[in-house]
Amino acid sequence: DLTHSPTLAAIEEARTPFRHHEWTAAPILAGDASPEAPEPLTNPADPADHPGTVAWASAADVESALAAATPWAAPASERATILNRAADLYEAHFGEIFAIVAREAGKSLPDAVAELREAVDFLRYYAANAPEGDPVGIFTCISPWNFPLAIFTGQVAAALAAGNAVLAKPAEQTPLIAHRAVELMHEAGVPRDVLQLLPGAGEVGAALTSDARVGGVAFTGSTDTARIIRRAMARHLAPDAPLIAETGGLNAMIVDSTALPEQAVQAIVESAFQSAGQRCSALRCLYVQEDIAEGFTEMLKGAMDQLAMGDPWHLSTDCGPVIDDEARAGIAAHIDAARADGRLMHEIRTPNAGHFIAPTLIRVGGIKDMEREIFGPVLHLATFHSGDLDRVIGDINATGYGLTFGLQTRIDDRVQHVSEAIHAGNIYVNRNQIGAIVGSQPFGGEGLSGTGPKAGGPHYLARFGARPAPQTG
Ligand code: NAD
Repeated sequence: DLTHSPTLAAIEEARTPFRHHEWTAAPILAGDASPEAPEPLTNPADPADHPGTVAWASAADVESALAAATPWAAPASERATILNRAADLYEAHFGEIFAIVAREAGKSLPDAVAELREAVDFLRYYAANAPEGDPVGIFTCISPWNFPLAIFTGQVAAALAAGNAVLAKPAEQTPLIAHRAVELMHEAGVPRDVLQLLPGAGEVGAALTSDARVGGVAFTGSTDTARIIRRAMARHLAPDAPLIAETGGLNAMIVDSTALPEQAVQAIVESAFQSAGQRCSALRCLYVQEDIAEGFTEMLKGAMDQLAMGDPWHLSTDCGPVIDDEARAGIAAHIDAARADGRLMHEIRTPNAGHFIAPTLIRVGGIKDMEREIFGPVLHLATFHSGDLDRVIGDINATGYGLTFGLQTRIDDRVQHVSEAIHAGNIYVNRNQIGAIVGSQPFGGEGLSGTGPKAGGPHYLARFGARPAPQTG
């Protein structure tokens, strides 16, 4: 299994039987479900490939789940044992999991491996820290499609470790992997009335965040959706119901003239284009010091030309598709506007079928020119003069987001100064702007990027437990 670091050949062998398998996703409730008629799902890399079908939860299913939801009465040690068993089952099924995330979410093999490892780390970390105190009650967990296993599992595992009943609503683009994950958690021993799955679009999420029986909400997704959920909770939930929101970013990196160019270019390419830029942590706006900008930009374009685009099933693919046609059209419109203004600096060729966007470089005056997060493989480039560094930092902070930030420099004092001045949850110095390590480098943003505390960190679980009643008398 995955714990024994399988070779590529072993991964291929484990994944191959699932190349044409069709999975089904449907509500998994404590009682009987009455979902809508199943619909086919499509591989984002290949319109002819159908990884399975999904039957969306009906309004009756939402009501039935709310009525049946029961907090997990088992002692913390038993919850921990079961969550660890779920981690073992995830690892044992790695071939199937890699196949689902490739065919449903368009993930390359390295991305799928990282995703499974993170999911397993979340299960084991929250199991190891499962608290004995009272849970909140019923927790709604709403997740995005871009880490359809890791983020889904992280939210659910934290809520379960704290003893809550969980109503899980995965993103509508990725119900298959969520369905399989819940099956494995039930197989590990999580009771069915403790963990229920409700596949659906925004309306199902809205229903699950505007019912007074819900005690708290864990949400990861866009900043706009988080605002809608906050308003719904304020209207319908108890005033102290926790919202744990992890949202979008407008992430910048500064490269000064002392940076090591090869190291910086590699970090930029990984940060902006890995997972086709569909990471909340991804680099969106690069600032290069004017003195080195010309040569550096040429190097960067050269590195972009080396990226292989294509079906993520193939091991040679660096950059897969974006998630669906709506995403493709939105990103393409942004690129077309830049082309019309003469700001397009570089793009590489795309395959014809599937929802592909080529890695693209667009010139901007600064981060102020960017109105919103473009969730795809599009990097924006600005230059700065060395005397303007503090103005650049001010502009980055003024976006109001605060998720990730990168710095490439060999000046020690600058590392200190910039890291203190930048408002960001995760700061990366002289490396790629990707990821976190559950347990030791938790992940999460400030301002418009999230409510904190950081996922995979020591303070996170506390938000899933009831606050002690205020002392009286
Ligand atoms: P999204 O906000 O469109 O959807 C996220 C989830 O919210 C989905 O399950 C969706 O069905 C649900 N939803 C939609 N409307 C709702 C409503 N009215 N009430 C309740 N739920 C509703 O986001 P997405 O496109 O799936 O994901 C991409 C976004 O997620 C990007 O902005 C990205 O930066 C962000 N993200 C953040 C992090 C982080 O850790 N900070 C991690 C991954 C993704």
